[in-house]
Amino acid sequence: MTATAPREEQLWSRCAGCASLLYRKRLRRNLDVCPECGEHARLGAPERLRQLVDPGSLRPLADRLPEADPIDFVDVVPYPHRLTAARASTGLVEAVVCATATIGGHPVAMAVMDFRFLGGSLGCAVGELITRTAERALDERIPLVLVTASGGARMQEGALSLMQMATVSQAIAALREAGLLTVSVLTDPTYGGVAASFATNTDLVLAESGARMGFAGPRVIRQVTGRALPEGFQTADFLLRHGQVDMVVQRRSLRGRLVALLAATHAGAPTRPSVPRQEPASHRERLADDAAAARPPATPAADGTAAVRDAWDTVRMARHPGRPTTLDYLDSVFDGFVELHGDRLGADCPAIVGGVARLAGRHVMVIGHQKGHTTAELVARNFGMASPAGHRKALRLMRLAARLGLPVVTLVDTPGADPGVSAEEHGQAAAIAENILALTVLPTPVLAVITGEGGSGGALALAVADRVLMLENAVYSVISPEGCAAILWPDRSAAPQAARALRLSAPDLRRLGVVDEVVPEPPAAAHDDPAETALRLRAALLANLLPLLDVPPAMLVRLRRQRFRRFGATRAGQRAGVR
Ligand SMILES: [Zn+2]
Repeated sequence: MTATAPREEQLWSRCAGCASLLYRKRLRRNLDVCPECGEHARLGAPERLRQLVDPGSLRPLADRLPEADPIDFVDVVPYPHRLTAARASTGLVEAVVCATATIGGHPVAMAVMDFRFLGGSLGCAVGELITRTAERALDERIPLVLVTASGGARMQEGALSLMQMATVSQAIAALREAGLLTVSVLTDPTYGGVAASFATNTDLVLAESGARMGFAGPRVIRQVTGRALPEGFQTADFLLRHGQVDMVVQRRSLRGRLVALLAATHAGAPTRPSVPRQEPASHRERLADDAAAARPPATPAADGTAAVRDAWDTVRMARHPGRPTTLDYLDSVFDGFVELHGDRLGADCPAIVGGVARLAGRHVMVIGHQKGHTTAELVARNFGMASPAGHRKALRLMRLAARLGLPVVTLVDTPGADPGVSAEEHGQAAAIAENILALTVLPTPVLAVITGEGGSGGALALAVADRVLMLENAVYSVISPEGCAAILWPDRSAAPQAARALRLSAPDLRRLGVVDEVVPEPPAAAHDDPAETALRLRAALLANLLPLLDVPPAMLVRLRRQRFRRFGATRAGQRAGVR
């Protein structure tokens, strides 16, 4: 701001688009859209709700949750201090405001994110509040409307933030099954874990004019690719052109458009076919449920050999070029692998391999990220970074497995999803989101193993499973240590500190309940004795898969949902290590 006096600052504000000095009351009457140039200023959640819902209909939902600092995160400022500051400056408890209301007389449950609060980041509390809102919608059999504004998952809560993508997605899947409409309204900006889950896996996706949405942000993509970005990259119009949103809506038309959509879908029966409906649990299933619940927990990390290993050393171990790849394991752990290719939409991604194979005589569908041991192999496989076509291929194979009654085994080893222009143009966020959602309801056993790098949403797209195993020297994280350091520390050289802060090692994640079992590697590491590693992985796969084969599919899905439901704030409010 210029040298205007405080009183004048409240009366006037300058448009970020055309720099016109605007009378604030006039701007507010115009819904915070510049009357000169049409720039849509960002809205806080309370103002957004005021604009959308019928006057007097708003019923806020409870927003108090146990305090959560699940991994005791400290960068240059302790996480609780950042929370306190965000609360003081916004007057909100968290980065989302949830309520029931009516819009044009139609009852809805709503969750509206607020970018002012820690960049609208998705942490355990935000995930829990949105999930409860979706559950409220299910209870009352009313549509769910989400308004997103977020930089992505909240780094300060580590992999538990990543889990929220699955927690909220499965709540949306339940609404899909029940035939209840889900709508997301993308506002500026919507990125990362929010873009790759509930912002795009709803029935309808509306983009407000001026919104930008993508999985990776423009700065990251520019850095990684070294290329200039196309004009209008990731803007609402770009998203519409690339088939990723249903419509682009001016703010002044948004409420009217929602009213029309709610009215149209309220009239008839549910319009969309859905994944197999879960029948009520039979007595026999309940017995199986009890039996499964009574099963003793998996053995924790076997011998503690890695207990003293520094997190940064583990990161380097997980990335070692000699580490066995998915194709190596397909050769050493499985028999008779028959690779299946293509997403049926026009591409075959080399970073994802999948197909049918046998494990100790049983047929399974194996899907994994493929890296390589040489530079040429790595380049040919895009370093194990899947494109949207790769995620869609994986999805096709998962669904095929469910139809054929094959269990799914996934092998996760990726630095993350492909940070490229083309990946964004082809719907990276929605592709990841769809896989996460599909896995939450896939009616067949799913067993995931983090074998090397479990990098953010790209990893989770293969890792929403009944059982999640992790090799001893693998890592699993919401963001790379380098990426985290670049954002939260003065520079990237702090990556080792970030690695420690993120709690990305197998023993840490076992303690947090993100993984169920740690598969010990041979002394030194997997790349020193691939044959022994394969034997240990094979034994762990069998021990975990066989009990799942006896559980009826509907029960599996129910238990899988419980598994991901428990990552909410109530649990995260407890200290890491109490389990
Ligand atoms: Zn303007």
